[in-house]
Amino acid sequence: MPPLRTRSVSRSPAIDVFKFGGASLADAAAVRHAIELILEPRPTRVVTVVSALAGVTDALLAIAESARAGDIDAVDEQVTKLQKRHAAVAVGIIGNARVRTRLLRELDEAFEELRMLGHGVASLRELTPRTRDFLLVRGEQLSARLVVAGLLARGAKAEYVEAATLIRTDGVFGGAFPDLLATDREVRAQLLPLLKRRVLPVVPGFVGGTTDGALVTLGRGGSDLTATVLGRSLRAQRITLWKDVPGLMTTDPRLVPTARIVPQLNVREAAELAYYGAKVLHPRALIPLARVRVPVFVRPFADPAAPGTEISVRHTLTRYPVKALSIVRSQSLVTVTGNGMLGVPGIAARTFAALQQAGISVTLISQASSEHSICLCVPAERGAEARVALEKAFALELSRRELEGMDVQRGMATLAVVGLGMAGSPGIASRMFTSLSTAGVNIVAIAQGSSELNISVVIAEPDAEVAAQAVHDEFQLDKIGGGGLREEDRLDVVLMGVGLIGRELLRMLPRVRRRVKPTIVGLIDRSGFVFEPDGLTARQLASYAKAKESGGSLATMSGGHKGTAAEAVAYIGTHALARPVLVDVTAHETLPAIRAAILANMDIVMANKRPLSAPRAEVESLRALAAKHGSRLLHETTVGAGLPVMDSYAKLVETGDKVLRIEGCTSGTLGFLLTEIGKGRPFSESLRDAMSRGFTEPDPRDDLSGMDVARKALILARMMGFGGDLKDVTVESLVPVAYRSMPLPKFLATLAQQDAAWAERFAAATKQGRVLRYVLNASPRKVEVGLRAVPLTHPLAGLRGTDNQIVFTTMRYREHPLVITGPGAGPAVTAAGVLNDILQLTPS
Ligand code: ADP
Ligand code: ASP
Ligand code: MG
Repeated sequence: MPPLRTRSVSRSPAIDVFKFGGASLADAAAVRHAIELILEPRPTRVVTVVSALAGVTDALLAIAESARAGDIDAVDEQVTKLQKRHAAVAVGIIGNARVRTRLLRELDEAFEELRMLGHGVASLRELTPRTRDFLLVRGEQLSARLVVAGLLARGAKAEYVEAATLIRTDGVFGGAFPDLLATDREVRAQLLPLLKRRVLPVVPGFVGGTTDGALVTLGRGGSDLTATVLGRSLRAQRITLWKDVPGLMTTDPRLVPTARIVPQLNVREAAELAYYGAKVLHPRALIPLARVRVPVFVRPFADPAAPGTEISVRHTLTRYPVKALSIVRSQSLVTVTGNGMLGVPGIAARTFAALQQAGISVTLISQASSEHSICLCVPAERGAEARVALEKAFALELSRRELEGMDVQRGMATLAVVGLGMAGSPGIASRMFTSLSTAGVNIVAIAQGSSELNISVVIAEPDAEVAAQAVHDEFQLDKIGGGGLREEDRLDVVLMGVGLIGRELLRMLPRVRRRVKPTIVGLIDRSGFVFEPDGLTARQLASYAKAKESGGSLATMSGGHKGTAAEAVAYIGTHALARPVLVDVTAHETLPAIRAAILANMDIVMANKRPLSAPRAEVESLRALAAKHGSRLLHETTVGAGLPVMDSYAKLVETGDKVLRIEGCTSGTLGFLLTEIGKGRPFSESLRDAMSRGFTEPDPRDDLSGMDVARKALILARMMGFGGDLKDVTVESLVPVAYRSMPLPKFLATLAQQDAAWAERFAAATKQGRVLRYVLNASPRKVEVGLRAVPLTHPLAGLRGTDNQIVFTTMRYREHPLVITGPGAGPAVTAAGVLNDILQLTPS
């Protein structure tokens, strides 16, 4: 059934539901961090759900088992340990001595009660599911109390809300499910008034109530479910599950180290994954959101700025049929065989019903096409019960020998691959089976969900890790992802820099006439980045470009994230991309970002001169890193914009020639400026003209200082074997000392003061029959850049406007050097050059 639209609760404020997972809440520092996240200023009201502190539910279960075994000493010892842990957190989050003492007293009482409860169980040596739940809920109750105390201590208004009356359930101890409608009413009645008063409600997760007011638990991992139920009832704007992982990943990163973040998952896919045991979400966590559209975000607690995974009704990454896989260990395979099943309807349904009645969850069911047997997987510890339940349900058939019997095989695991795109992609199953058999994994049973959203297999548990890795590799979940289009058909571009050149490039890309058009997956600026692994749409790109043009920052735009360029690249690099290329069209110090890109096996295209004109050791280590990762570094536009400077150089060298010297005018900006002044225009007017045409760096002194030309000269000289650094380049600056360090606006306001000096320089040159040019001169030993008066007969004298000229003197071109002349500045030609480099990397 299609999800219904969200109905907004009348006039209630926009709400964020936060859930802090147990794995994240390890100690006082973690609880403080959670409190900070809750208190961060935001336009929404926050409802908080907390898990028990890390490991506490397991510890409580251990206490329950010790008690059942009658071991009072063990109970006491374990209770004391837990008490100390909670007390340490209390001390770590509450500074005020009086408040702290009161909280510690409350904790003492709570643990005394727990101790008494343990003793009670120990004396009876009986632990009912009801009592076990009564014991387990304490973990969440305690952590919620701690968080409330911490919030109050920070001066916030916060209130503990008891979950028993809030989350109404079906009362199944150990695994209750909420009565959604009743819970909707309770939640709104209890929480909305608090929110209206700007009180921060804190709800213990995992806990619910029975109709007669007893406490129940929602099953392991149940806090996820508490969060989604609250999000649903409150029609929250979003639900954020803060966890110890960067997001929902292609598989459990503890099992497969190459697991990657899935940026967005359709709710159906996520629900399927959870149901098939991906531990990251409670199996039924997404059921409350089947009809009410509230997006869920799984985000890293340790790195709150990272976007994590969005689970929503969107359907993205359609080119990846397989998005993720999950492994569930400790399963038993129950097989029911017999001729009596042939053609008899409802055997599967009765099997299910019998197990459901016994409260046993079935993770997989598979019927052979012969209809001679049904296999199903249940948690290993419930295997024996499952057999009993089925024997009872089919007693008649068994006695008539229509069914031969039940077989229970322990030591199994299930592996499920999930993805909405599988329905439309034939051959997924066979690829999965082939990869498993190649890895030597024997498949015991196979099931495909009727939704074609998943394929599951049963394997022997010791094979689990190898199997997961094999299937993950087969569908390239670590790289291009999902077994979709082959890598040859794509090229993913991350564009760093959305200035004049970047925007020009964005305009040019759609007009590329190639079979494979580069896809822009990310944009990065100084503030942060936007990223869409499936490719940003033309519309998105146009709107980002427009917003950038009017001075906006990506971080604050829709879909934008904060972060340095290196962080952005590293984050993007964790995703499945095809032949990713980082394109650097900034003028910043981008080495860290480029290194991050190489580490993520990206190729690099740069127009930015800074990385390659950095200190020699850094450039050498960059090149070594690139070589190690097989990353290509293309940088045609670092000298002469789109002119084929690097290309010509490479061709000369490849054919065995040796370049002895390179001269030239490589600053379109200075070329334009000097030609204009040569025509008799004042310096100040000429410079402003250059700026308004986009010929200069944002601060024109970067051009006038000669540093831009010096960087180009250094890049060229290094190709010839020059061993020095930028400081070894002799540079003549055109900015008088007095103007070098003043703020840019002041520099621009006082430009006219320099007009007279420039007019004089030109007059002197003209008198000698020369023109002024800013010239670079590079050889393997020496690099110089500066203003030269060249005779009118010299080729450089003929340059006009922004034209560049590069002169190669080589062994072969000694008498008549090889001259390359043409437009060498401006966004359009530079972008065209960058595009050319990108196309070199694009499959044809
Ligand atoms: P919480 O702290 O919210 O209760 P859990 O510990 O229940 O979080 O879930 C997070 C754990 O789930 C991770 O530590 C990870 O090992 C495991 N996991 C299993 N499958 C996945 C997956 N596909 N993506 C991310 N984590 C996964
Ligand atoms: N504390 C419970 C558990 O460990 C519930 C949860 O964390 O979601 O299963
Ligand atoms: Mg959990």
